[in-house]
Amino acid sequence: MTTDSPCLLAIVEVDKSERVYCAQPGCHHTVYKAIHVVKEGEQLLVLGSTCFEKRYGNLKALGKAQHWGGNGKVLTSEERALLAHNTQALVARFEAEEARLRQEAQLKLQSLREAATRPVPVTRAPTTPLVQWPAAVGSMAPRGVFPWPWMKPGTSVAAFKFQDGSGWVRVQHKDTRQFIVPWPSFDGWDEALPPVVGRPNMEIGGYEVIGPVPVAIAFLRDHAEAEKVTGVWAEVAAVLGNKPNWT
Ligand SMILES: [Zn+2]
Repeated sequence: MTTDSPCLLAIVEVDKSERVYCAQPGCHHTVYKAIHVVKEGEQLLVLGSTCFEKRYGNLKALGKAQHWGGNGKVLTSEERALLAHNTQALVARFEAEEARLRQEAQLKLQSLREAATRPVPVTRAPTTPLVQWPAAVGSMAPRGVFPWPWMKPGTSVAAFKFQDGSGWVRVQHKDTRQFIVPWPSFDGWDEALPPVVGRPNMEIGGYEVIGPVPVAIAFLRDHAEAEKVTGVWAEVAAVLGNKPNWT
């Protein structure tokens, strides 16, 4: 498109009392509806729709208006004054207003995008060496809290109360190993159970089950007077007793 190609900038409308003169040579009509603002070379023309059609062949000849789409924008009195006396300033105003609207739309889009990519806040595991279970029962702490930081979250435990008064808990490690942990712990726990249960692991403070887990469980069951498989620490405490020195 050369600079001389006419360009339809806008179709505007003013109040009938503020109608403007059509710029088509020989036409001395005033117009107020469907005023076509056309840029032709360096010239800005304000044309009535009839003269626009005459001049360019038909109403669609120049395509869609650059500003405000194809809809007639109703001008304010101030804008109408610009249309009549300084069409250039009016077009500049259109451009500025549209730039502002574009920027607003862009900002809105950007904030929507940011909201969409913002990470959903997640409940983090406590940094203290305590594993909560389930996360929702934090209000039950400390009775709702399992005391093993290495425990695999979301697994159940089995509590065994022995006839001799000792308590043992089968707990799964995060790395899937099973441990039989004395609860509460006591001196000599590492010599209390036979190898069929497992091998003492001093770092964990319990027996690491080496052989088949059901065999180890069968031994514990044989010696237990009470047993509870649960995911709730309070139920472990109920089986093994609520000793005041538990920490
Ligand atoms: Zn005219």
